[in-house]
Amino acid sequence: MRILVTNDDGVHAEGIRALVTVAREFGEVKAVAPDRERSACGHAMTMRDPLRVTASRIEGVEAYAVSGLPVDCVNVGLTLAWPDGCDLVLSGINNGPNLGFDATYSGTVAGAMEGTINGVRSVAVSMAVFADGAPYHFETGATWLRENLTWLSTVDLPPLTFFNVNVPAIAYPELEGHRVVPMGQRVYKDRVERREDPWGRPYYWQGGVVVMRPDIPDTDVWAVSCGHVAVTPITLDWTDHATLARLR
Ligand code: MN
Repeated sequence: MRILVTNDDGVHAEGIRALVTVAREFGEVKAVAPDRERSACGHAMTMRDPLRVTASRIEGVEAYAVSGLPVDCVNVGLTLAWPDGCDLVLSGINNGPNLGFDATYSGTVAGAMEGTINGVRSVAVSMAVFADGAPYHFETGATWLRENLTWLSTVDLPPLTFFNVNVPAIAYPELEGHRVVPMGQRVYKDRVERREDPWGRPYYWQGGVVVMRPDIPDTDVWAVSCGHVAVTPITLDWTDHATLARLR
């Protein structure tokens, strides 16, 4: 199996090393990742600037650092690393959750989206850590993926569908298995904070308080809060077919 590994935390991130280590057990791996952290860039792509590519190694495998975003990395990867195509795109392991609407902001998920658009089976993997400074437990994500990558990469899926996986940031023996669940609710309130620089000029810091709804059962947020790995199939056909039919 020919595997392209990418991420949005950058080529030097701990999570991509964990992902490469698992991926190489399943086939030939080439990694193409941003040259620095690019989290929360969504499905953006670079159009007005050149992409500089630097050859590197991650855990001994062929790797490239790209002066761009995850989407750029997948497209560079399919041109430079795997010009004849590949069988699987793996994106991650992200150093934070991509639950609910986070998927729309996520560069990690965007890497899987771009793989899907290119007709390649794609999986995004994130560690759902919720406290600042808490351990990411990338080894838990790696171990779970080792046990589950075969079905994730071979199960029958429609052409526009990929997997978004969120692994609780806990020790592997504490995991309660996995659940296949829809996107849940995880939003931010008090999103933009006004502060002042040393000269009294205002600036704004975006972040806010996360509001999660782990109480809504059978969602990704619920699953992770209960210690389950959340596996969410996502389709790039954003059309609301039920509403389409009703309006017609
Ligand atoms: Mn990230």
